[in-house]
Amino acid sequence: MNFDLNEEQKVWKKIVHDFVEKELMPKAREVDEKEEFNWEAVRKGGPVGLMGMSIPEEFGGSNVDAISNAIAMEELGWGCGSTALALTAHNGLGTAPIALYGTEELKKKWLPMVSSGKNKLGALALTEPGAGSDIQGGITTRAEKDGDEWVINGAKMWCTNAGIAEYIITLVRTDPKGGSKSLSMILVPTDAKGLHIAPAEKKMGLRGSPAHGVTYDNVRVPLGNLVGAEGRGLQQTLATLDAGRISIGAISIGLAQAGMEAAIAYAKERKAFGQSLSEFQAIQFKIANMEMEIDLARTYIYKSAWLKDQGRPYAKEAAIAKLYATEMAERVLYDAIQIHGGYGYSREYGVERMYRDARLMTIGEGTSEIQRLVIARHALAG
Ligand SMILES: Cc1cc2nc3c(=O)[nH]c(=O)nc-3n(C[C@H](O)[C@H](O)[C@H](O)COP(=O)(O)OP(=O)(O)OC[C@H]3O[C@@H](n4cnc5c(N)ncnc54)[C@H](O)[C@@H]3O)c2cc1C
Repeated sequence: MNFDLNEEQKVWKKIVHDFVEKELMPKAREVDEKEEFNWEAVRKGGPVGLMGMSIPEEFGGSNVDAISNAIAMEELGWGCGSTALALTAHNGLGTAPIALYGTEELKKKWLPMVSSGKNKLGALALTEPGAGSDIQGGITTRAEKDGDEWVINGAKMWCTNAGIAEYIITLVRTDPKGGSKSLSMILVPTDAKGLHIAPAEKKMGLRGSPAHGVTYDNVRVPLGNLVGAEGRGLQQTLATLDAGRISIGAISIGLAQAGMEAAIAYAKERKAFGQSLSEFQAIQFKIANMEMEIDLARTYIYKSAWLKDQGRPYAKEAAIAKLYATEMAERVLYDAIQIHGGYGYSREYGVERMYRDARLMTIGEGTSEIQRLVIARHALAG
């Protein structure tokens, strides 16, 4: 066994860390307060490789391995939860399905455009107003063939990046009879006639990462915009989410790490009863728990990413990693606020923002309940 990152991964970690420290961290509070997306991070992140992590080099991407993707997501989460979520939605959801399942024509047309950082991003719309966890049974957005076009009607909800995207990969029902082979993914350019993107939702956290409702009113796109095989949408979605769960877990670790660092700095500086907070054993125990839980989560995130890199099954491990890391981040950030006392509740201090940002992580890309279902299914089958 080897728990060390390889040389390439170490260099990548340093590059992303330095980039995040310079470009994301100083703006994290501002993007949250103003509810604005950090476009500069995209412009400058393109050349660093952050916009093409799932995209092969021949299409302009950096095509990093799963461990390097987890490293980048942790670093992004450490600096700014909002930008981290937008970039994982872009890389993992908005570009990976095209890179993995798309035709050469689709790859050539869209991937170089969205990997450069000069243009808008990619997005994936699975969730609907009436269905999120129940993808197989609940999707009502439908696509029908008419000559050489798909005609799409329906509505999606919570589509991260929709308002700042070049296209939205849309999960649609192509066989009205239903079943596991009735869904497909179709790429819809955001300037398509009949596509309406609602204003960004007003959210509790991650307020610099826009998420939108989207409606499709007789939207027509060429048959060639099908991403992958017709009827394989459910399987492609589940595979996309397995990988995405490692990223959401990694972002959670970054948020928790930032919260712990803030709590340690504050505990050393703040005095009570004639000594610094860090000298109270009660505070030390909280910090010990933070250190322990973050380290455990990171080790397991790397394990699931390593399995993915080996081409081995990792669905159960990704579910465990996401479940543990996301719930861990909530515990750590709760205590980070507690250590800050009243100041922890103030928007002047970053820990309240991190706490709000972390709250999404147990919901997006499969709730904690769904992760437990996945884990139980594997355990009971074994
Ligand atoms: C900020 C944000 C960004 C998002 N970005 C995207 C995006 O880019 N693309 C996209 O497609 N979606 C996105 N989502 C949607 C997200 O993936 C869904 O909210 C999530 O999958 C849960 O679906 P739901 O909200 O419909 O909840 P529901 O599925 O209605 O679930 C409600 C509750 O019931 C529980 N539940 C449901 N089924 C079961 C069951 N079988 N057993 C036990 N409990 C169950 C759930 O765990 C949850 O607690 C985003 C959401 C948010 C808030």
